[in-house]
Amino acid sequence: MILDSYRIATEPYYQPQGQEIATFLAAYHERLPIMLKGPTGCGKTRFIEHMAWRLGKPLITVAAHEDMTAADLAGRYLLEPSGTVWHDGPLTLAVRHGAICYLDEIVEARQDTTVVIHPLTDARRILPLDKHNEIVPAHSDFQLTISYNPGYQSAVKDLKESTKQRFIAIDFGYPPPATESAIVARESGADADLARLLVTIAERSRNLQGHGLDEGASTRMLIHTGRMVRAGLPLPVAVQSGIVLPITDNPDIRAALSDAIEACL
Ligand code: ADP
Repeated sequence: MILDSYRIATEPYYQPQGQEIATFLAAYHERLPIMLKGPTGCGKTRFIEHMAWRLGKPLITVAAHEDMTAADLAGRYLLEPSGTVWHDGPLTLAVRHGAICYLDEIVEARQDTTVVIHPLTDARRILPLDKHNEIVPAHSDFQLTISYNPGYQSAVKDLKESTKQRFIAIDFGYPPPATESAIVARESGADADLARLLVTIAERSRNLQGHGLDEGASTRMLIHTGRMVRAGLPLPVAVQSGIVLPITDNPDIRAALSDAIEACL
């Protein structure tokens, strides 16, 4: 009842790329924690929404950020007219009542937050709430999934080995061209030719990865660009505003990317 607002009523469209659905189902069956690895905008969030819907479980999503503390996940006392009252944080809600908790970009959060998830990701399956003097045993439906972008990896911002090794990992790359075109067409309403063209443009940008670009154009960017074309914008303008300008501030890289794209238009 308490988690009804976190239930997903209609099927989120998800186009599988490989064994990810079977892997997730097996890990969920064993209540093993899962790490979705891959670049931004490649379908990780859509996948977890689809899986939560498929399993009929509520989904609590938390977007991690650099100021996020353990209390933001676990909960805190708040001052109310009746006195101080304990409020469960999103992770505690999921643990107590049995939801899938999706921690998006956990690497962004401060180190103390990753420590909170350790006792939940081994055989103990408990969440100690030190401030509330309580140990919450995980509900049998509880499952923890995190996302992790290996591209952002740096010495300061990386998961500790002791954290990484607790998770079953599923790798999300960019889908094969035909699959990605189908996704772009379906999600943006672009016709098949335009969707294919956008995917070709994305491939060119992905070739520049490591040569000035941190990441190539994501599936999300292609969908946005397709929607701009549908809204009436000429294709070259849509490509500039949907792909080239957001992806880099460096004028030389912009020029190189624009040249690479022009060759496809
Ligand atoms: P991430 O969480 O990896 O940053 P998202 O899941 O938000 O990325 O994906 C961005 C968008 O791309 C989604 O909203 C969806 O429209 C589309 N998308 C990407 N991959 C798929 C897929 N395999 N099936 C369906 N839609 C997808």
